[in-house]
Amino acid sequence: MDNKLNNIEKTLLMGPGPSSVSPTVYNAISTYTVGHLDKRFLDIMDDTKDMLREMLKTTNDLTLPISGTGTAAMESCFVNLIEPGDKILIVENGYFGSRMINICQRLNADMDILNFKWGEPLVINDFKAQLRKKKYKLVAVVHAETSTGVRNPIEEIKQYLDNDTLFIVDAVTSFGTINLEVDKWGIDAVYSCSQKGLSCPPGASPVSFSSRAQNKILERKSLVPNFYLDMKQLMQYLGGKQRVYHHTAPINSMYAIYQALFDLKCEGLDKTISRHLEAHEILVEGLEIIGIKMLVNKDYRLPSLNAVIIPKDVDDIKIRESLLCDHNIEIGGGLGPLAGKIWRIGLMGYSAKISNVHKLLSALKRLL
Ligand code: PLP
Repeated sequence: MDNKLNNIEKTLLMGPGPSSVSPTVYNAISTYTVGHLDKRFLDIMDDTKDMLREMLKTTNDLTLPISGTGTAAMESCFVNLIEPGDKILIVENGYFGSRMINICQRLNADMDILNFKWGEPLVINDFKAQLRKKKYKLVAVVHAETSTGVRNPIEEIKQYLDNDTLFIVDAVTSFGTINLEVDKWGIDAVYSCSQKGLSCPPGASPVSFSSRAQNKILERKSLVPNFYLDMKQLMQYLGGKQRVYHHTAPINSMYAIYQALFDLKCEGLDKTISRHLEAHEILVEGLEIIGIKMLVNKDYRLPSLNAVIIPKDVDDIKIRESLLCDHNIEIGGGLGPLAGKIWRIGLMGYSAKISNVHKLLSALKRLL
């Protein structure tokens, strides 16, 4: 039987995620697996939580990697913080805002949705007007909308929320690629993933809950409707003094996150963010020269996710296939209403390098 793994060649991942995994992380993953309650693993988890707090700019005690991808981390925030009948507001201006809605529809919340056009950010005045109409227990917004390349103005939101409204932020594409200040911006629950800014394979995903959010979880009247993501139990497994078995954490995925955070700390968060911005600026300049325009206005464009308009008469699928098969470069297509209209070029983590931008630009020049 042919071993299909032998057919996998190194691919430069410049799509919406995963990003290319760094050699240090590959190395970390092949570290010997130990037991999930082994003191050596628990020490690694403790350091991981400390580094996560530092990189998320928070002092939140309840900060840890969830076993699962970004969607598990996303779901963990909603299932733990919403009780049936809670009035909640979800901002939707892309595919991942819609996913929040899909998750919340299953939780019997009293949900309002505030839509903005895909490719445009949340408009603060409309948001304020919505908050004047109703008092919400929870408001959720995506920081970096990976489906459109838009950055929502998370830093402006808290001042308009009531004191007892919890604020959830999706930082799946923003963490480690653009500025994110969890405490300063008044975020009560934030989640991310491993396979974008952290350049790990998908597997374990950071979450962090403020003390207000933690209290809400502890004071819930109803059971969290999901065993695997129940933070009350996870607190005892991954956080308590006496660790209580809940599930078997994916040890080597946790090694990966540990190493990625270690590398991020060594490079320095500010330097990492500048590297993303620099690569993005060179990409935009190069694309303009070959006649490719950006979808999103400069003021709220993401450096980590570049949504570009597919030039007229160019075959979306054919170009992406040639990039992958002939040049070993992956870029992403559009989602939902943007399918066939845009390409999504990721500059995330280990992939966010000027040399990679040049590789992509020269391949595109040859193909177009
Ligand atoms: N939120 C955003 C903004 C994303 O970009 C993604 C994935 O791309 C997710 C949530 C879901 O993460 P995952 O695919 O790791 O489950």
